[in-house]
Amino acid sequence: MNHSKSSILYEEAVKYIPGGVNSPVRAFKAVGLEPIFADYAEGSRLTDVDGNTYIDYICSWGPLLLGHSPKAIVEGIEEVVAKGTSYGVATAIEVEMAKLLVEAYSAIDKVRMVNSGTEATMSALRVARGYTGRNKILKFEGCYHGHSDALLVQSGSGTLTYGVPTSPGVPEDVVKHTLVARYNDLASVHALFEANKGEIAAVIVEPIAGNMGVIEGKKAFLQGLRELCSKEGTVLIFDEVITGFRIAYGGASEYFGVAPDMVCFGKIIGAGLPVGAYGGKSEIMDMVSPIGTVYQAGTLSGNPLAMYMGKKNLELLKTNQEVYKVLATKATKLTEGFKANLEKLGLEFTVNCVGSLVCLFFANGRIENYDDVKRCDTELFTIYYKKMMEKGILLPPAQFEGMFLSAAHSDEDIEATIKANYEALEMVKIYLERI
Ligand SMILES: *Cc1c(COP(=O)(O)O)cnc(C)c1O
Repeated sequence: MNHSKSSILYEEAVKYIPGGVNSPVRAFKAVGLEPIFADYAEGSRLTDVDGNTYIDYICSWGPLLLGHSPKAIVEGIEEVVAKGTSYGVATAIEVEMAKLLVEAYSAIDKVRMVNSGTEATMSALRVARGYTGRNKILKFEGCYHGHSDALLVQSGSGTLTYGVPTSPGVPEDVVKHTLVARYNDLASVHALFEANKGEIAAVIVEPIAGNMGVIEGKKAFLQGLRELCSKEGTVLIFDEVITGFRIAYGGASEYFGVAPDMVCFGKIIGAGLPVGAYGGKSEIMDMVSPIGTVYQAGTLSGNPLAMYMGKKNLELLKTNQEVYKVLATKATKLTEGFKANLEKLGLEFTVNCVGSLVCLFFANGRIENYDDVKRCDTELFTIYYKKMMEKGILLPPAQFEGMFLSAAHSDEDIEATIKANYEALEMVKIYLERI
């Protein structure tokens, strides 16, 4: 596989962009490769500047539930552009979008649009703190909530790969209010509540963790958080930036039947344009300026192009909710295929699958929290990764990321991926036998 054009671009890119990329995971550093540069993508396929076409399981890291540029969503966007790209005054489509979000999530009454998942979680926490008059927040090891200061503590995604649990540039004074508990471990949460009585403003959690591979939150764990937060007057925030409109139309909240006080959105609600949102009960959301005193604003928030794509995406999902079953069936088929390959080869690695999220962990036994994830052999993942890429399968380039399936992935795509998986695992086996 030739990557010479990507290589030339990369050489140029590093001169002007730190590491040559605008987000660390795009560097492919965790798998010992150089970044590829995309040329175009359609459906389940991405083609790089060297003309290599891959079955794409990065899918922009989550936004593209229906694949790349589905006609039904992108058509008509030229007309939106022709009417203006941003106004800085309110538009009708923002109302329609807010209504769609609120109707999909019974737990929330009102919603505010922002421009990214990072902004959504950062703003939700500010509101929760304003609402409770408390400073402390509680998050979980391995959960990633974007890159705002207070949340960049033992988070997942690139920070796991690059071993920067707490980033330089984040003052201790800021993170001293951030408490960190163990995922799927209610006892660790109880202990922190006990030690910080009446001080915790919010608990923020990924109900299905998607930034330390893929780990399903246990229902009892999430229900336990709900009960504890109600009892302690703490705001329970579900970060559904990945799971929102992916796991079900009503997200993980619907899937688990657990109602949070606030929800953060991103990714799918923008269908590939930069969008985020946070919502909650009226009582909480009415804290937000201009009717409340908690300040939060945005020059491009509710941008007409982003609203157009997002709204069409949600409307399409709303009227085709069987897509979630279809996606889950595909993911299960992929998972079963991987498991069968592992068994055939006598390997005992773990595959986690929730909805349309799949992760093959290079570790044995159950993977239920960050400590489990840390057992993974990233060297084996790298061997596996390179072979998969050679076979035309584009996986997220790090062990600690899940595969994102889309409705555009065909049965043939899944079969080709299972076949490539066998060959890549064979390489891993040969390597293991040699050492
Ligand atoms: C991606 C992600 C974010 C951050 O969203 P950005 O749009 O990248 O700022 C927050 N929370 C979760 C769970 C995410 O996966």
